[in-house]
Amino acid sequence: MIELSGVHKSFGTLEVLHDVTLSVPAGSVTVIIGPSGSGKSTLLRCVNHLEKVDRGRVRVDGELIGYRRAGNKLYELSERHILKQRARIGFVFQTFNLFPHMTALQNVREAGGGIELLEKVGLAEKAASYPRQLSGGQQQRVAIARALARDPKLILFDEPTSALDPELVGEVLDVMRDLARAGTTMVVVTHEIGFAREVADTIVFLDGGRVVEQGPPSAVLDRPQHERTRAFLSKVL
Ligand code: ATP
Ligand code: MG
Repeated sequence: MIELSGVHKSFGTLEVLHDVTLSVPAGSVTVIIGPSGSGKSTLLRCVNHLEKVDRGRVRVDGELIGYRRAGNKLYELSERHILKQRARIGFVFQTFNLFPHMTALQNVREAGGGIELLEKVGLAEKAASYPRQLSGGQQQRVAIARALARDPKLILFDEPTSALDPELVGEVLDVMRDLARAGTTMVVVTHEIGFAREVADTIVFLDGGRVVEQGPPSAVLDRPQHERTRAFLSKVL
């Protein structure tokens, strides 16, 4: 479903992603872990061309993201085409990004969805509430319903629970767990190692912009091969 091959990304002289190659099969869940500044958000942003890669390729469903090929040259797609590609890639951020002047239902409708998506995230009874009338966990669940409204091929989550009070984290993870069980292709940046262990098919440990280690939770979390992975896990576990 998602293929990153040899992706490099720098900001000025700072290399943020170095030769990242990753494959996320349809219907699978990949969790990305790693220290602050290791490139996790940048990696997600490259998947929908919010950041342009300097080298390498990103493909979703076989389709090159952000570029079209003509002969052996690549040309950046027009803004319209980029938006079209992006529309099918859900993105859920740390901050909830809802329209404050719209109710929960209007937020979901604006993206093409309806009440059934609020039901899916357990919020049908809050349809008429405005974001300021909702808890952080509820707002994030509306944001997930919004992402689902575009019938995405996959959903990217960038630390979806890290802005939440601890007692609200569970309700958001529950919704994500349901999505995973339903076969949604997901890439999740999170520090919730318990969730990663339970839900991830693959865990990717990113450090200094490099994929240091990747594999099933039982390998990466329980038998990490690299000292850097062990050092990181000893801090978050
Ligand atoms: P965190 O866990 O703190 O969210 P992260 O792993 O998501 O960190 P990124 O946000 O991908 O890290 O940032 C990786 C590096 O790239 C950081 O050093 C950051 O300062 C730098 N960076 C990110 N975006 C930009 C930008 N637009 N311009 C310049 N530098 C950037
Ligand atoms: Mg980040």
